Amino acid sequence: MIIYFNGRLVSAAEAVLTPVDHGFLYGHGLFETMRAYHGRVFKFKEHINRLKAAADFLGWPKLPPYAELSDAITSVLNDNQLTNASVRLTCSRGQGTPRPDPGSCGQPAIAVFASPLPPPLPPAGWSVTTVAFRRNLSSPLVKIKSANYLDNILAKQEAKAKGAEEALMLNTDGFVAEGSMSNLFMASEGRLITPDIYSGILPGITRSTIIELAKAAGIIVEERQVRPEELADADEIFLTSSIMEVIPVKMLDGCPVGKSQTAGRGYFTVKLIQLYRELTAKE
Ligand code: PLP
Repeated sequence: MIIYFNGRLVSAAEAVLTPVDHGFLYGHGLFETMRAYHGRVFKFKEHINRLKAAADFLGWPKLPPYAELSDAITSVLNDNQLTNASVRLTCSRGQGTPRPDPGSCGQPAIAVFASPLPPPLPPAGWSVTTVAFRRNLSSPLVKIKSANYLDNILAKQEAKAKGAEEALMLNTDGFVAEGSMSNLFMASEGRLITPDIYSGILPGITRSTIIELAKAAGIIVEERQVRPEELADADEIFLTSSIMEVIPVKMLDGCPVGKSQTAGRGYFTVKLIQLYRELTAKE
């Protein structure tokens, strides 16, 4: 596997991080997981904008410009002969003293690697279960794709232990937030509804794309607080993420979603899967 590491293309064995890197010591890192279709990353600019905004928020030195990151990704895809792939860009705060003082760090360490993904298949419906872990509304970190992903991992572990594919996290006010690695939408009374960005969610790139596609297709979209009971009455629920695209939810907390027997594939879900696929094929 060829990896981009701090400005060079190297083998995986050569991409070595020092143990006094603050990403390793304190989880002080950021990442983006993107999906490449036909050799090009979908929504590259949006992913890098989110990454740079997070780096600015954390007071990091400037990250490399868009063109350099784009060239790095293209080289990694080409050198590994990948066209449909998951592309992971990880930035670690860099080498510093073994104390939680980011002022002691030099330049962030940056790595890009890619793994093959098959062309998208019709997505199977997932089971989702509400987990005990809550998204903390008073933490600015929920809006950041930080390399400290323990909250999400705990939520996913709890869901898996309950036999579900994904966790549903509520926020500390008891409203619906998101999945452990995905955003959530529901359809009810002919509208598409999703927790607003103040609900303790990561502002997902796929979420934004789905909102834009739905509005352009004449669908009424509501971004607002969502009560957990509303999900129990929803006609459809689906999840979104760059890698998984749009995933129908067929079961929530052990109960089938919606009244019809569509295993999560209702009108809105099917329509938006189709529109999303058309867009990824085009852009
Ligand atoms: N929410 C969380 C917590 C995530 O980790 C992710 C993706 O990994 C998402 C939402 C979906 O974000 P995106 O659509 O940008 O991939």
